[in-house]
Amino acid sequence: MPHASVVLASGSVHKLAEFQRVFDGSPIALVSPLDLGCHCAVDETGATFAANARLKAVAYARACRRWALADDSGLEVDALNGAPGVRSNRFAGPDATDDDRNTRVLELLGGVCDDRRTARYRCAVAIANPDGVVNYESEATVEGVIGHAPRGDGGFGYDPLFIVGPGDTTMAELPGIAKDVISHRGQGGRAARAYLERVLADAES
Ligand code: IMP
Repeated sequence: MPHASVVLASGSVHKLAEFQRVFDGSPIALVSPLDLGCHCAVDETGATFAANARLKAVAYARACRRWALADDSGLEVDALNGAPGVRSNRFAGPDATDDDRNTRVLELLGGVCDDRRTARYRCAVAIANPDGVVNYESEATVEGVIGHAPRGDGGFGYDPLFIVGPGDTTMAELPGIAKDVISHRGQGGRAARAYLERVLADAES
């Protein structure tokens, strides 16, 4: 298959690094919109991860005039009725840092026992073609438990709080490639890679 490039519909360096690891060895190059000089601001007004992923895929595909892969993702904590959920990025206010968001989650879970600290990461993926038509969607989750204090320097976002079984390891304590094996984004990214390799190979044949 000839080399094809797909834009990642995100300005997040963390998401880009994780998706690019998943696309390592693929004939498809997953590129940052910044590398294309393509600027795109998307209001994430959807009520669900899937709706926001579609909004981003369509906007970036049209702006960059190429295939676009979007991910909308976040943390769902059962004891918080699914919050932060689709508001994971805005959970502690517009200017909050990852530390601020983690502190907020720990505050809200104060006094909640270990058995009730269950949570999951969810990742919705949408892929749009260069005309801005969404023709692939998927969703993936990984289950975990929210710890009592942040641990680890890897990953990003809520990873220092997110304990993945069967041990007591947080996502932030895992090497990146070990996170990819189990993570919501790793699962979603591998399925998206398989789809894109099939579709772009068909388009060239
Ligand atoms: P989005 O850019 O609107 O999809 O927001 C994603 C937000 O969800 C991030 O800013 C993080 O706060 C959180 N999030 C999503 N995936 C991860 C992950 O893999 N680790 C930690 N936090 C994540």
